[in-house]
Parts: sequence; C-alpha cells; structure tokens
Amino acid sequence: MQKGNIRVQTENIFPIIKKFLYSEHDIFIRELVSNAVDATQKLKTLSSLGEAKGELDDLTIDIQLDTEKKTITISDKGVGMTGEEVDKYLNQVAFSGAEEFLKKYKGQNETNIIGHFGLGFYSAFMVSERVDVITKSYRENAQAVKWECDGSPEYTLEDAEKADRGTDIVLHINEESTEFLDAERIRTTLKKFCRFLPIPIRFEGNQINNPQPAWTKKPSELTSQDYQDFYKELYPYSEAPLFWIHLNVDYPFNLTGILYFPKIKQSYEIQKDKIQLYSNQVFVTDEVSDIVPEFLMLLHGVLDSPDIPLNVSRSYLQGDPNVKKINNHITKKVADKLEEIFTKERKEFEEKWESLGLFVKYGMMTDDKFLEKATKFHIMEDVKGGKFYTLEEYRAATEALQKNKNEQLVILYTTNPVQQDSYIQQAQAKGFVVVKLETIVDAAFINQMETKWEKVHFTRVDADIVDNLIDKADASGSVLTSDEESALAALFDRQLPELHVTVEVKGLSPEAPPVIATRPEFMRRMKDMAAMNGAMGGF
Ligand code: ADP
Ligand code: MG
Repeated sequence: MQKGNIRVQTENIFPIIKKFLYSEHDIFIRELVSNAVDATQKLKTLSSLGEAKGELDDLTIDIQLDTEKKTITISDKGVGMTGEEVDKYLNQVAFSGAEEFLKKYKGQNETNIIGHFGLGFYSAFMVSERVDVITKSYRENAQAVKWECDGSPEYTLEDAEKADRGTDIVLHINEESTEFLDAERIRTTLKKFCRFLPIPIRFEGNQINNPQPAWTKKPSELTSQDYQDFYKELYPYSEAPLFWIHLNVDYPFNLTGILYFPKIKQSYEIQKDKIQLYSNQVFVTDEVSDIVPEFLMLLHGVLDSPDIPLNVSRSYLQGDPNVKKINNHITKKVADKLEEIFTKERKEFEEKWESLGLFVKYGMMTDDKFLEKATKFHIMEDVKGGKFYTLEEYRAATEALQKNKNEQLVILYTTNPVQQDSYIQQAQAKGFVVVKLETIVDAAFINQMETKWEKVHFTRVDADIVDNLIDKADASGSVLTSDEESALAALFDRQLPELHVTVEVKGLSPEAPPVIATRPEFMRRMKDMAAMNGAMGGF
C-alpha cells in the first residue's frame, strides 16, 4: 500500500485562483481593504495588550489612484509585516494570518477579524499585472521590506525604505482591467463593500465610510432618532419606517442587525430597497432569500453575521445550517416585537395596520410558527372604521348571533363597502360585525385561514349563505305574489346564466333594494383567486 500527500503545482493553481475564486472582479477592493482593516484591528489589539508600544496616531486607511502610472494603492497604518512574515503569509497560498491571529488571541480581545481563508490577497492578481507590497512591522527597529510578484509563482523580496509602520499594496492594473482606473468606479465599489467598515477609509481626501453604524451599538445607547437617522443613511429616498427591531444574538450563532418595517401602501411596485447582508461590517450581498423568511423580504435594514462567510453563493446559503437557524430566529423576533407593540401600544399598532397587516398576513399564510403567534395580534377592521377585532374578539362580539357556534365561527366581511352597503346595513341591523377584507391579499388570506384556523368560516356579507345567519326581513313585507317572484327569478336566470345567481325578491323591507341577487361564495372566490394570480405574478 502507498500513502502520501497530494502535491499541488503552483503554476497550475495560480490561474485557477485568479479566474475562478471570485466571479466579480471588483471584489479585489473588498479583499484588500478588509486586509488593511484586519491589520489595523490587530494593531489595536496588540496595543491594548501592551504588545505594541507607542502611540497609534491616525489609523485611517488611504486609497490612492494614479491614472498616469496606472496604479491603485491601498495604504494602512496597521501591524505591517517583517520579511519573515511576508514569506509566511504572502508566499503561502491559503495560509491565513487572520485565522492564526484569532487562534492566538482567542478570548483576550473582542476584535472582529474579517480574513478567514488566506486567499483574499490573491484577488489582487485578477486586475493587476504586478503587485508590490511595501511593508514595515510595528515591532521596534523593524526593517521595511518590498515584495514584488507578477502573478506567476515567482516573487522577489528585498529590504526597502518606508518611514511609517504599516503596509502599502500597489496594484499595477492590467490591460483588461483599466475600468478600475476610474475614480468614480473605485468610489462606488468602496461605497458598496466598505461603507460600514470599522476603520476610517479615505479616498481622494474624503472619508467614505461610517465606522460605527447603528447596528454595532447597544440598543440602550441609541435613541429613536438614531434609528431613524440610520434608516435615512441606508435608504435616503424612502419614507420614515414604522418601527424597527434591533437584533443581537451571540448564541448559538452570531447575528446583529436592525430590521425596519417600511411604510407600504397596498401596492406592489417593485421594491428597490432591500435588506443588506454584512459579515463583520463588510458588505456581502443584498440577495438575502433563505436567510430572511420570504414573508419578511419586504423589510429593510441590515443583518450582520460573521458566521456567514464572504464568499457566499446561493447554493452555499441553502445548505448552511446557520442560515436556517438565523431564518427561524428572525421570524420569532419579528413575531415577538409585533406582539409587544400590539399589547403595549394597541392604538399605534392599529394605525399602522394598513402596512403591517401585509407582512402579518403573508407570514400567517406561509409560516405556521408565525401563524400561531400572529393569531393573537392579527386584527380585522370593522367596516364602520376605527374599530379592530382579533379573531377572539370577533368571536366574543358576535357570539350571541352565531347560529352554529359550536361547529364554526362565521366572520362576515365585505370586499366593497359601497357596493355591498345594503347587505352590510342588514347585517349590522341584526347586530353583526362586518369587517373589511378588501384587498387581493385578503382574498388569499381568507382561503388559507379557513384551512389553518380551525372551525372558522368567512362569509361575504352578500353571499347566499348569509341567510343562515341573518333572518331576512319578514315575508309580510313582500310586494310581489309568489308567481311574480318565480317569473322574475326565471327572467334573471335567462339573462345572466353564466353568473349562477340566486334571485330573491321576497320579504324585503321598503328601504332595501327591490331585488337581491347573490352568488355562491365559492364561485366568487374562484374568480378572485384567478384575478390575484394575474395581478401578483404568482406570488
Ligand atoms: P486572510 O485575510 O483570509 O487571512 P489573505 O490572503 O487576505 O487571507 O491575506 C493573507 C495574510 O497576509 C493575512 O492573514 C495577513 O497576515 C497578511 N496580510 C495581508 N494584507 C496585509 C496588510 N495590509 N497588513 C498586514 N498583513 C497583511
Ligand atoms: Mg483577507
């Protein structure tokens, strides 16, 4: 038997890394600036432990563009590297100095280090024909060194002149990547990935990041204005949010973030503002499906989890066990928060129901755990306006009028208070509560809740079976003979056969319309469902 180690030929692995490691080339900015942040965070940690001497001074990371020399330079004032360290960290692909540092200082500090795989640095070669690293370690009397590599496995390492501690990474941009020799392009890329990195980052004299975004602070340190301001920073063009949830979990996974409930009218315009996913304050993606439950995809805000690696792909996310846990946690937090507002500030909750209700109803339809909690705070508005009922409150309010109350609770609703006014009036005259369920979402909601809520039936106020609940005005009020009635019914049937209406002309009071035509509940719903599928693109 033969045992051994697989040997890797660097000549072959290099092009693979360059080509396939990252699908988006602008990632190199994220990786190199993250390394600069890590180097600075390490220095801060070492300084706090007394291992790095002297003042730290200004730690700002600087990005410079030189269009003539065709270079981009990323300069930090972090730990720097000695010649030996360069050899160890840069000449060994997939050896992560970040991992090593974390292992060594575990428990001694709370630094968030971004690096992980020991591959990020090599993303520089996706856009560079040559990379120079000029670096000087924080250690006393350290000798600065310069490392040069053209992307082949050969490099040079020599002593160099550098006045200050830290590292300059000089990228000599290659022919195919000249798009990055554009200040605007760099600025947008920095804004995309580095907007909330924890160390000040400067480009062309301006700081481009907010190093302490609201989600990294404790809720007790933040006022409601701070939350509103942060929302404005994220979505300058959106209306103020209804409320927010500050997430802060550290077991069994790490998750921080702020989720905002935006103001939504009952319209389905394309949502441009999305939840953003970060990992240690580095932007990862705004495609958060899987992490965020589907019914909360319309929320806004930020999630940050170091447990979600930077190199995420959709298929990766689906298979990650933390993702499912995070998803469940978010559902629970949202339900708890809604319940809290409902209990403590019911008035406010009711005022915001138009927007809130949309989330709550989607949630109840798609997530049974949420349904269980939300049944307590889902409310329906009385058609008269201003009064809201939960399921149990509706039951209590109409109990005396429910005919088969042991078998089922009937909820009378209207989809159009104007058109259905006469029916509403009759029901109300009998003491019934008629609630408004007018939207496309309501139509789907009703169907779903009849299967999910036990023994609950929704009946539109003008449906034929309302008769079973409300005794129509007595027959003595009839103005027609029974022959006239059947003749009239036959006439309707001939004229409107496809509608399948039941015509009733009997026993109506003088204020009511002379004829009432009703359609079976199921017929109408079929039509509503068809309309909904069309309008919502199969939501
Ligand atoms: P990772 O960040 O995942 O550890 P990288 O390939 O991005 O891997 O970087 C490899 C190592 O090189 C880092 O862990 C660090 O030790 C070193 N390094 C890279 N950039 C810098 C820098 N700007 N200052 C100091 N050390 C650096
Ligand atoms: Mg890195």
